[in-house]
Amino acid sequence: MRLDDAGRLVIVGAGQAGALLALLLGRAGHDVTVYESRPDLRRVDIDAGRSINLALATRGIVPLIDAGVIADVDSITIPMRGRMVHAAGDPTPDLQPYGSNPHEVIHSVSRSDLNAILLDAAEATGNVHIEFDARIASVDLDTSELRFTDGRAEPFGVVFGADGAGSRVRKAMAAAGSCEFATEWLDHDYKELTLPPDENGRHRLDPNALHIWPRGEFMLIALANPEGDFTVTLFAPKTTFAELVDASEVDRFFDEEFPGFARLLPDLAVQFLENPIGPLGTMRATGWSHEGRAVIVGDAAHAIVPFHGQGMNAALESVRALDRHMRNQPDDLDSAFRAFEAERKPDADAIADMALSNYVEMRAGVIDPNYLAKRELALELEQRHPEHLRPRYNMVMFSTMPYAEALSRATAQSALIESALADPTIDIDAMVRALAPLPSNDPLADPTALSIS
Ligand SMILES: Cc1cc2nc3c(=O)[nH]c(=O)nc-3n(C[C@H](O)[C@H](O)[C@H](O)COP(=O)(O)OP(=O)(O)OC[C@H]3O[C@@H](n4cnc5c(N)ncnc54)[C@H](O)[C@@H]3O)c2cc1C
Repeated sequence: MRLDDAGRLVIVGAGQAGALLALLLGRAGHDVTVYESRPDLRRVDIDAGRSINLALATRGIVPLIDAGVIADVDSITIPMRGRMVHAAGDPTPDLQPYGSNPHEVIHSVSRSDLNAILLDAAEATGNVHIEFDARIASVDLDTSELRFTDGRAEPFGVVFGADGAGSRVRKAMAAAGSCEFATEWLDHDYKELTLPPDENGRHRLDPNALHIWPRGEFMLIALANPEGDFTVTLFAPKTTFAELVDASEVDRFFDEEFPGFARLLPDLAVQFLENPIGPLGTMRATGWSHEGRAVIVGDAAHAIVPFHGQGMNAALESVRALDRHMRNQPDDLDSAFRAFEAERKPDADAIADMALSNYVEMRAGVIDPNYLAKRELALELEQRHPEHLRPRYNMVMFSTMPYAEALSRATAQSALIESALADPTIDIDAMVRALAPLPSNDPLADPTALSIS
């Protein structure tokens, strides 16, 4: 199948992945139709007044630079220099910088504002038509038809499944025998709250940090929004949520576990009882395409838990990789899609594993003296041997090194650091110098692309 005579190009889903893919295809001159089940978020407040934000890092920034939208994105981001750790029983929070380089910051960005920028840019190509309130019920790969929940059917030449973790396109490919997938659910859930600005419209906490209240089995985190509010998320075992069913239980829990935070949010129990609980899972799929006529990308192909702040970053990185493979092999989409999966599947599995292990690091590690000693030594070694060692977090967040390589390097580094802490007489510097040199970043990875103050 050739891209140019494949017939109708259809994207299911106008989230971050679908909107970026539409922009890249539209910019290359292809006519694209996007079907999105929700209303147009640029016209309707679909988050019921809540502002939900995400951490944007280098892997997400590079595709946004490539797509030409980074200047618009810059106006909606807030830099976060490190983790502000609010330890239990300690009224003074502790800032743990993410890196020793001032540009090693991550950026808080509104999910819907970023999506709106991508949708506007996609439509501005003149080649992208987006239909909202259009929910796909099923995909018929035999007749190349999409069936909608309102009963109508539309043909497609190639269908791109950017329809998130519960992807209908993936389910159709699985039914056709091209794809196998499984979701592993955590026994922890999450709930989002909003910490409004103070009476002067200012942030009630330092906006330039990612706030964490680690409590061992559960944690609270907060990321700032430009309007002065914070999006706050409680991650906790399902059993904890099951106990928090009335206002007095909610107030007691927050007063005991997060007293400093509870004082800042008088309507905490009201919000808590009103807002939905979300599940957390890792979806791994094998077989991301079907005969050059269907392919999945973003969460539809690799949904992960949010503890490394990488799901959207990985989705944007995957869209750019898919676009590159289609441009490399425009005459053979089947091969292009297979090459895309061959490149990205090991990376998707690696970031899925790292995201799971980062939950333990965030809710317990950041206050564990052993973890802190390892992190400090890793940062020191990075200063002494910047061409051979980078802490894992920094390889994931501030580089474009393939995730699988970041994971294997991090495993080797961690073993070295543990042996140096156990035996201070070993020549750790010689061991680090023996590690293979770090690869250079993507040439587009400009650390100054987004403002950091
Ligand atoms: C609590 C939480 C915090 C997170 N924090 C971060 C973070 O800090 N950094 C980060 O990088 N990532 C984070 N993520 C992950 C991130 O949200 C996802 O990885 C990212 O949104 C994936 O983008 P996507 O476009 O692939 O999928 P989605 O954003 O899920 O988009 C899929 C789109 O498809 C539409 N759709 C679905 N089904 C249909 C259908 N049948 N017909 C038509 N349309 C359909 C949906 O309405 C949606 O618009 C977080 C996730 C959670 C849950």
